[in-house]
Amino acid sequence: MDILAHGLWAHAVFEAAYRAKGRPRSRREKWTTVFFSVAPDLIAFGPFFIVSLFTGFPQGGLGRPPDPALIPSYIYELYNLTHSAVIFAAVFLLVWFIRRKPYLPLLAWILHIGIDVWTHTASFFPTPIFFPFSGYVFDGLRWGEPLFMVLNYSALAAVYIFLRFFRRAA
Ligand SMILES: [Zn+2]
Repeated sequence: MDILAHGLWAHAVFEAAYRAKGRPRSRREKWTTVFFSVAPDLIAFGPFFIVSLFTGFPQGGLGRPPDPALIPSYIYELYNLTHSAVIFAAVFLLVWFIRRKPYLPLLAWILHIGIDVWTHTASFFPTPIFFPFSGYVFDGLRWGEPLFMVLNYSALAAVYIFLRFFRRAA
């Protein structure tokens, strides 16, 4: 899924969960949650994006992904690290161990992975959810499909309208 939608979904899901529990969040906690929801793609594609600003982007187009073969291999290596539930679990548990309590904004990371699993086809950055133990990938939808984009952002709009209404009612 695109990075903006990742951030918007994570904010909405966490906001709803915290409101349901009646637990307020600081502004900082909200932003760190959004950060961890976009970080998997930011880390994987950020360096390549900056380099491409100078060298030009690989051929593609609106709603049409570039040829995966034109994307440097280090991107795939970063992508494996940031899109693996195994790596997430290791980091989450390590942080839990160090702090002696779980760091909940990190859960936005596994939400990102969970969303990507079914919004990527096997041919373009499928989610290596069990990396490095297994190369299994799920052949999901293509998030760049215009119909998917329209439905996704319509759903987001509905959720945000609901959250606003819910806040007023509460
Ligand atoms: Zn992603």
